[in-house]
Amino acid sequence: MSFLLKAGLVYTGTREIENGWVHVRHGVIIEVGSGPAPEAGEIVDEPNCVATPGLVNAHDHMYQWATRGYVADGTLFEWLRALYPVWARIDADSVRVAARAAMARLLLCGCTLSTDHHYVFPHGRPGLFEALVESARELGLRFHPCRGSMSLGDSRGGLPPDSVDDRAPSRSAAGFDVPRGGRAVLAVLRLA
Ligand SMILES: [Zn+2]
Repeated sequence: MSFLLKAGLVYTGTREIENGWVHVRHGVIIEVGSGPAPEAGEIVDEPNCVATPGLVNAHDHMYQWATRGYVADGTLFEWLRALYPVWARIDADSVRVAARAAMARLLLCGCTLSTDHHYVFPHGRPGLFEALVESARELGLRFHPCRGSMSLGDSRGGLPPDSVDDRAPSRSAAGFDVPRGGRAVLAVLRLA
């Protein structure tokens, strides 16, 4: 299957092409140019638009979309202290809903590759990491999630409740099915 995007300006990251086109076959860009365009199964012609490479988002905490707008006037630590007890009750459904909102926002802004630094894993709430990855697959976002953890609960002087103290991280990511071969659309980075 081939696809041709024509735009008033094509920016490749290193050069600008007026009235250019991008030729895609099987999801891979095979040619960029201007002038007579190659045949394609599907053509999108946007003479008043700029086509650019997808943006990359290198830092996110997508589960926090579930509480967007809470404690809006607080300092960082006021915000964290107020919300950790709320975040300590997240489950796979709330992570999925929040991630879909976060990823949709990114895609609508031109971002096609994102990470997510997820580090809140309440005890007894399975499937959080999987919810993130499934959301990215559903929406077509290239995804490089990071599995973090918190190791100091409030009984030992930390900010988060003990219920998200996670001193043995990577349990949920350890058995995760990371696709192998072909073009990688998903990679998992485990941070100790
Ligand atoms: Zn951060």
